[in-house]
Amino acid sequence: MCDEANTPTLRACIDLPLRQDELLEVTAKAKDYAIMHGAAMRSKTNYSADALNFAPFVLVPSSFPRKEFEKAIALQPIINRLMHNVAHDEEFITTTLAETVKVDEFTADLFNIYKKVLANGFTQAYSVGLLRSDYLAHAFEGCAIKQVEINTIASSFGGIATHLVPLQNFVLRELGHADKLKNMPKNDALSGLCDGMVKAWDIYGKKDAVILFIIEDISYNICDQRFHEFYIREQYPHIKVVRRTLTDVHKLGKLGQCKELLLDGIEVAVIYFRAGYEPGHYHSQAEWDARYLMECSLAIKCPSIQYHLAGTKKVQQALAQPAVLERFINDPEEIKAVGKIFTGLYSLDDNDAGNSTYEMALKTPERFVLKPQREGGGNNVYGLEIPEALKKMSRVERSAWILMDLIHPPLSKGYMVRPGGDMPPTVVDMVSELGIFGVIIGDADHIVHNYQAGHMLRTKLSTANEGGVAAGLGALDSPYLI
Ligand code: ADP
Ligand code: MG
Ligand code: MG
Repeated sequence: MCDEANTPTLRACIDLPLRQDELLEVTAKAKDYAIMHGAAMRSKTNYSADALNFAPFVLVPSSFPRKEFEKAIALQPIINRLMHNVAHDEEFITTTLAETVKVDEFTADLFNIYKKVLANGFTQAYSVGLLRSDYLAHAFEGCAIKQVEINTIASSFGGIATHLVPLQNFVLRELGHADKLKNMPKNDALSGLCDGMVKAWDIYGKKDAVILFIIEDISYNICDQRFHEFYIREQYPHIKVVRRTLTDVHKLGKLGQCKELLLDGIEVAVIYFRAGYEPGHYHSQAEWDARYLMECSLAIKCPSIQYHLAGTKKVQQALAQPAVLERFINDPEEIKAVGKIFTGLYSLDDNDAGNSTYEMALKTPERFVLKPQREGGGNNVYGLEIPEALKKMSRVERSAWILMDLIHPPLSKGYMVRPGGDMPPTVVDMVSELGIFGVIIGDADHIVHNYQAGHMLRTKLSTANEGGVAAGLGALDSPYLI
């Protein structure tokens, strides 16, 4: 156990607090800069399709240990390959999720699609993974990064994160700290991710086929999505991008003679899912039918159903068990390096291991976070709330969850700027979560593209359990490497 009161604070990029007049002026400028450069979102509380709010952001970049940042960057191609191999291991996915799908209806619905597609044979052998591996530095282990999770579907904020570096550069220059810019790594997330979709489009190889974005009914994170669309349209004007909901696909979609996906007659080369990762996106059987139709089609999916399942928390937990990595990675050095980023992850399956995890969680709940098979933030149970949550579940129901060691990141000090927030903002204690994007394209036998593609930093108040920006708790940030 660590003493949270003694959590170390990282050295800030510049001396804080700022003078009040200086702070007021630079914050007002930064807000306008953010809106004018698309570091923005649609408001959930005051929604209008015609208006944007700036996205919550951290005024001055938060410090992040350089060595750990570089480690995360270097690991990404290995993690990409790991996830690719996991996604193509039917036996592993099936055994790992066996207990979970008995009780978690959503995972079971995804798994059923997987099984049906497997039974018919994959129409499209290639998948494109646009992944984001998320980390917290662990303050009590020399700030070594520990993986929070890996996202294989709708890995977001690559677009806005790319535009956040110029925003914080602008702020630092306004404050007379242009000399600090050299410690902010450049961020090519947007181009890296979009180029990945375009490489998949090239593999599909039909000049009139489009890239389809699957979107929610309302896209609050519209700028991030539009950045992807506009980048593709500007850099590759011959490739059309179409945005449709799952419901639209149900109404408009059918398969052609070679199982090509046709939407109102338009052929789809690549499907990029920005929705479909939570139960609320499937309003009825129609949306599930649409997902199945797409999985059966010749279009290259980002992600394909096997990649989606490989990104579940249950699979993450299974990968962290001793000797499991050896199944997917050959190089002992790589196994060691990946093994080091895992923190304790424990099964709650209805068996001996699951039951001893249960006892451990009741005894020392303050050490853990309890996670279901969900995405998008706001689903976890933390620390002292875990026993009550677990006691409400049957032994079988617990299999839908995993238990994970809490990571204690170092603190940093800074200003969070949010729409409608305090003006001027005050210096607060914060913690940051680093996301590294990766692109991988291949089939079961070959990987044809595999690269790291930029990063994002999300920062939250140190007192908040979670820091989802879309969920309204976190703020966008970029690392200042120390
Ligand atoms: P989701 O897929 O919903 O984003 P995560 O596993 O990323 O689920 O959890 C959501 C948030 O909860 C993370 O962004 C992080 O702030 C917090 N969190 C998750 N796991 C841990 C952990 N082991 N230690 C500390 N915080 C965690
Ligand atoms: Mg996630
Ligand atoms: Mg997350």
